[in-house]
Amino acid sequence: MTQKEIENKEKKILLIYPGLDPCPPYKLLQIAAVLEKNGIEVLITDFCHQSLKNGMIIKKRLKSLNIDIVGIYFRIESFSNILRIIRMAKNLNKIVIIIGSGYKEMMKLFLRDSNVDFVTASGDQLSLLSLLNCLFSGKNMARVKGIGFKKNGIPFLTKNREYVSLDRLPMPAWHLIDIDSHLGFSVFGPTIYMETSEGCPYNCTYCKLRLSQGPIRYKSIKKSIDEVEYVLSKSRKAKAIFFQDLTFLFNKDRVINFCNELIRRDIKISWFCYGRIRDVNEEMLKKLKEANCKAIIFGVESGSQKIQKKLGKKVSLNKIKKVFELCKFYDINPGLSVILGIPGERIEDLQKTLNFIKIIKPSYIIPHLFLPVPGLKLTRIAESYGLTQPKSLDEWEISMHRLPNLFPTPKETKRMYFRLCIYNDLKLFFDSLKNLGIKTSLKFLLRQLQERTLRIVDGVNYRV
Ligand code: SF4
Repeated sequence: MTQKEIENKEKKILLIYPGLDPCPPYKLLQIAAVLEKNGIEVLITDFCHQSLKNGMIIKKRLKSLNIDIVGIYFRIESFSNILRIIRMAKNLNKIVIIIGSGYKEMMKLFLRDSNVDFVTASGDQLSLLSLLNCLFSGKNMARVKGIGFKKNGIPFLTKNREYVSLDRLPMPAWHLIDIDSHLGFSVFGPTIYMETSEGCPYNCTYCKLRLSQGPIRYKSIKKSIDEVEYVLSKSRKAKAIFFQDLTFLFNKDRVINFCNELIRRDIKISWFCYGRIRDVNEEMLKKLKEANCKAIIFGVESGSQKIQKKLGKKVSLNKIKKVFELCKFYDINPGLSVILGIPGERIEDLQKTLNFIKIIKPSYIIPHLFLPVPGLKLTRIAESYGLTQPKSLDEWEISMHRLPNLFPTPKETKRMYFRLCIYNDLKLFFDSLKNLGIKTSLKFLLRQLQERTLRIVDGVNYRV
């Protein structure tokens, strides 16, 4: 498509969420709202709960929506799907933009692919708008911050954009999706996924999110809870909210004020969030309980102190145990995120994790396999175990599927991963029976199994 042809096009973009899970990412809705506010028409589509191995599904959708510019939201867990979508989109002569491909190594990898025209950095809600404005007006893109394109066929990245205050952004474009058909599932029932902050002050060696989202920034409590009320008013089915902030509990005063505001407005919905062990204290748990917080998911990741150290966690197993006990005392379910396949992990470390799980008895276990994303400290360690970094998207895809073979104890790691998955799915099923009854719980279990199967077929459940 020539520049003249683009300039004559309607200001329209199709945003695609390639994930397997049902909820389009909050950030995509935020970007959509920014575009709409600035006069660009937006359509959102997703392929949730569908295997895209057969490209016909993608082709049909792209043809039926008939928009020339497509923005595909980057989620490394959906990498194979993204590849299928960009190939098909290019085949149909679309302009292909990868949204939020994060840090420099990944942006360049995308730009080396002939199917990709542009990339935007993650943690940046404004770059796509500036990029589209340049496309529609034919202006020079080199001055637009936070994007990448090809200059004489070579990947070129512009300067980083400063992080924007979340209060300056419009409310995410919830109206572009049918909220009730995009609810996640938890033991508390159909769940809305939201965020009230971005970024994280910690520095775990395996975490890409910290790299891409930057330092912590908060939305005001008023704006956050106005949005909770808005979203609940638009849903007939939601029974819970998952605040997906990377570290929801980091600022104790804010947490207390947030809970007080929920209580003041008489919002009684069940909710849960992520937390760090060292951020939690008794006063906070008491308040969380009052505000109907039902669960906290802790990124403990391993029961081996040696592995914990490698991950950059500075907390003792004893402290973790105490916090889990305290949560249970206040009737808040402590969930445990576990990463398996850490470079240097031995069978005895896996055993220690298993033993630790038996001691702290988490209400939920969320198992992941380590994914060595370029740019991470832990990835450099993985290289000393034989990992070679891919030079193209195709190589990346192949290496992701081969990755488990690089784990120091591949068989044991995979066995334990599946064991924890099965344990957790069954536990969630029996727990949900209490809250949701047999019919909904069975639906929940089937959904879990379906998602898991799709992940195995289409990619794997890596922790990034
Ligand atoms: S794993 Fe969690 S706490 Fe650690 S850096 Fe990433 S977001 Fe922050």
